[in-house]
Parts: sequence; C-alpha cells; structure tokens
Amino acid sequence: MTMANVPLVGKDLGTVAGGGGRRRGRKNSCLVCAVIMAKSVEEALIVMWKAKEAGADLVEVRLDLLKNFNPSHHLQLLINNRPLPTLITYRPIWEGGQYDGDESKRQSTLRLAIELGSDFVDVELKVAHEFYKSLGGKKHENVKIIVSSHNFENTPSIEELGNLAATIQSIGADIVKIATTALDITDSARVLQVLVHSKVPMIGIATGEKGFMTRILSAKFGGFLTFASMEAGIESAAGQPCISDLLDLYNFRLIGPNTKVHGVIGNPISHSKSPHLYNPAFKFVGFDGIYLPFLVDSVSHFLHTFSSLDFVGYSYTIPHKEDGLRCCDEVDPIAKEIGAISCMIKRLQDGKLLGYNVDYLGAITAIEKGLTESIGRSKSSSPLSGRLFVVIGAGGAGKALAYGAKVKGARVVVANRTYAKAKELAKKVGGEAIVLSDLEKFHPEEGMVLANTTSIGMKPNIDHTPLPKEDLKHYCLVFDAIYTPKSTRLLQEAQEVGAAVVYGTEMFINQAFVQFENFTNLPVSSTFSRGSSICILSWQFRLCSLVAIPSAFSRGSSV
Ligand code: NAP
Repeated sequence: MTMANVPLVGKDLGTVAGGGGRRRGRKNSCLVCAVIMAKSVEEALIVMWKAKEAGADLVEVRLDLLKNFNPSHHLQLLINNRPLPTLITYRPIWEGGQYDGDESKRQSTLRLAIELGSDFVDVELKVAHEFYKSLGGKKHENVKIIVSSHNFENTPSIEELGNLAATIQSIGADIVKIATTALDITDSARVLQVLVHSKVPMIGIATGEKGFMTRILSAKFGGFLTFASMEAGIESAAGQPCISDLLDLYNFRLIGPNTKVHGVIGNPISHSKSPHLYNPAFKFVGFDGIYLPFLVDSVSHFLHTFSSLDFVGYSYTIPHKEDGLRCCDEVDPIAKEIGAISCMIKRLQDGKLLGYNVDYLGAITAIEKGLTESIGRSKSSSPLSGRLFVVIGAGGAGKALAYGAKVKGARVVVANRTYAKAKELAKKVGGEAIVLSDLEKFHPEEGMVLANTTSIGMKPNIDHTPLPKEDLKHYCLVFDAIYTPKSTRLLQEAQEVGAAVVYGTEMFINQAFVQFENFTNLPVSSTFSRGSSICILSWQFRLCSLVAIPSAFSRGSSV
C-alpha cells in the first residue's frame, strides 16, 4: 500500500467545536486536544485554563488518573467550570488506562458525563454496544460519542483498519477513533490512508516515534483531532507532541491539504535540530511546507510507501546517506563521487528522485571564508587551491570535506583511525593516507588546514581532542564538524596557538541554506535579504543551531 493515491481532500467535519472566528487563519479543521493528566479535579481545572491559554481547541480529561474521584460531585464541578469543550475519558486497565474498578460503575460515570453535558465522551469499542444499549436510544444533541479502539501490538493491514473503522461507524459512533502502534514508519501510511478516506469524523493515530507523522499530518489528511501533551515528558501516549511544539514548531494551524511534506531521514533522529531550522524558515517566507523527523529503518521501503507528490523533500543523516543515494533516479556528480547524499528532492513533473550532497558546500564555503578573513584574498579562485588540507576521519563528513577540498584544488591528506578507510578515501581524491595516531608527527609544512570530521570532542566527551595543542601550531586554520558544543576543545586550543577557527555550526547553517533553496525553489540571497527582514531568518537559523534546542523527542521519557 502506498500513499501515491491519497486524494488531498479538505473535509467538512461538521462537528468541529469552536466558532468560525476562532478558526480564522487556520488552513485545516483538525482540532488540537490537550490531554489533562491531573491527579485532582482542582488541578485539572487549573490545567484546563492553561490549555486554553496555550491555544488548545478542547481538552481531554482522563478521569482514570484522578485520585479520590467522586463522580457525581467532581464531574459536575469539571463540566460546569470547563473553559474549553471537554472530552471525558475514563480509560480502564484492559484498554491501557488506570481504572481497575467495577465496569458498570465506570459506564454509569460516562452516562453521567453525558447527562451533565460534556461535549465529548470516549467509549471503548469493546463495550460500545452495551453502552449504547444502556443509553436506551436517548439522544443528546450536544454530546458527541467517540468510539475508540487501541492496538498496543502493531498496525493492522489497510483492509483490517478499514473494516475496523466501518465496524465502529456501524455502532453509531459520532467520531471514530483508531490508535495503533507503529513498528515501522510506513505503518503511519495505512493510518493516514484510512483517515483520508473516512466518511465520518475520525481520529487516526499511530503511536510511538515511528508514528509521529500521523499526529502532525492529521491536519493535512482530514483528522478530526490530534492529541497534545501540556508539556514534554508528560505524554499520555508515546509519540505525542507537546502543545507548544505542535503549534509553534510544526505550525499545525498552517498545514492544509496542499502542504508539501519534507523531513530528515535518519536513525536515530530524535537529536535532530533540522525541524527547528526549516519549519520557522518555511513559515517566515510563507512556503506551504512542513518538515518532520523521520525515524526510518529501510529507506527504499519508506520512499516506496510515501511515493505520492505530497512527500517531496528529504535531508539525509546517519546511517542512511549511502542508502539514500542508491534510491535516487538521478544523482549529482559530486554526490556520486562521494558515494552519499545529504538531500533528496522529488521532481514534481515526473516524481523522479534527485540526490545531492550539500555537506561539502556548507563546510568548504565556511572554510574558504575563514581563510580569506585570516590571510586575505588569494590570487587563485579559492584560498584552498594548492594548500595542504588534512581531514581527520573518513566517514560521511570526512568524504564530503575531502572531495570538497579536492574540487577546490587543495592537496588532501586523510588521517583516520582505521587506516584502510583512510587509504580508500585518499585514493579517490588523489591524496595521501595516514593512520590517525601518526598525525602528531605529521607536519611537512606550515600553514596547513585541519578539518576534524570525527566525533572526538563531541558532547558529552568535551574534554577529548583528536590532536594535541602543541601540534596545532602548524595549521593556519582549524575546522571542526562537531557543533555540540559549538566551541570544542580542538577549536579552543587552535585559537590559543593563533590559528583561525571555523565552527561546525557554519557548516550546518550553510548546508541548510542550500537545502532550503532546493526545498522551496526560493533563492536564499534574495529571499532573506529583503529590506529589514534580512536577518530575521538568518538569525533563526543561527539561533537554532548555536543554542542547543532539545528536539521534540529528546525531552520526554517516552516519544
Ligand atoms: P561517520 O560516517 O560515522 O564517520 C565517523 C568517523 O569518525 C570515522 O572515520 C571514524 O573512524 C571516526 N571516529 C569515530 N569515533 C572515533 C574515535 N573515538 N577515535 C578516532 N576516530 C573516530 O560519521 P559522520 O557522518 O562523518 O559524522 C562525523 C561527525 O561530523 C559527527 O560528530 C557529526 O555530528 C559531524 N557532522 C557535522 C555536520 C555539520 O553540519 N556540522 C554534518 C555532518 C556530520 P573509523 O573509520 O576508524 O571508524
């Protein structure tokens, strides 16, 4: 099953809460439901108000988490004082909740919530027949019943999901809710497929980090609502974003049926700051795009599944840069030589996948700039031309730096822990290979350029360095690909011996600008240099990369 045929329909969901005025400026009708996980009704009411301030459309109150809960007294208090439309959920242990008491008491509490005028009530599919029967056909026009099904094992086939949705609908649910577990990111596609084809209002979620996209793309594919936690770390289910990330980082309100989906493909991916770069940038220039983290096991399976023209641009990171290249229809010559891509664009005219390697551009541009600033303009086209360029490392970043330096006419030396890899790369760039432990003795000339592309010195090992301070005096410029921390021990010591330094953040920012151009077709120079807006975006980029903004996933215990 692929996403190729998913029609992009904006659906009139009919039962959407909140007035038209509240939805002005929104490009979708998917509601943001803040989950209230309070221990007391008093606390719940306080958090409900906070949810309203944070921009939620409705709240879900989890009765099963309340201590000393007295239904008749507390439900009235909650419902009478609610600042937002409220969904009452009383989840039993057998459906993943915490209520382990008498089932008839639980259901009578849900009936009471209906009598008292709660806006929404959640009833589990397993007991939905019995529950509807107990209502005796009594209609409560202002109360919508969500019939929910939770699968904690996996995500069933598209046929099974379709049948499940039909079963829930046939019971008489006002809103269908299906939550599954994503074991692979492609499981998300099946949930989105069912969502987009649903004839009744539907909530479709694949939980876990691999299902994260369903929570955001519910807005694009016509979901009735998406759940958000009030804060990172207090999610009611794995993969749930916090409300501030949903609204401010992923620009949830601006996602519409035509929004183009981009993202970074990697494994792991929770540390990636890329969503913090591209989403504000897209918003700033009014580009109708979204950028997500994609935790991918198989690149080819991912690309095949999300083959529609809704999914159009990817950044690639460890360990998928080589696999990404193998999946391209066309590859730029430098990426082919390097053997890895860092960016992939889907050509809209024919759906072909085009691969680029922009890593080297980012780093080499920054190093050229640093050299020009420290030693002045050179007569040749590049200040790297003819210079001895020592690359430490022979992985993805090492290859990009070595090829980039070669393209600029530098003489390349590759120093790597594993000599065989150094030799292989050096051969490809017509350079020399040495084992890393010999680098201390290696100073055939003065004024060399050093580029560290290993993770030596990266957080948390910030007291590590690939080359002792006394050996740095032979270099006129030292670059470190690491950007956490910005100022590594290597760069601090290089500065102390008088070398110019170039930070890994520069590489990160420069390659991001190139990718931005690829994604949006907007030239960065003119887009970001318009009058006073100049550096708002440039500032965003820099801020995001210089300050260690934790990613949506790295903050919580669950994802
Ligand atoms: P990679 O493909 O896994 O390569 C890692 C390289 O580092 C290999 O050559 C490896 O040597 C070497 N290495 C790792 N640990 C080492 C140690 N303890 N001692 C000696 N050598 C060691 O990774 P990559 O994608 O090139 O990334 C490398 C670094 O660059 C990371 O810190 C990453 O964050 C950074 N990076 C930064 C940017 C940016 O925009 N600033 C972009 C890409 C990458 P062996 O061959 O012996 O294993």
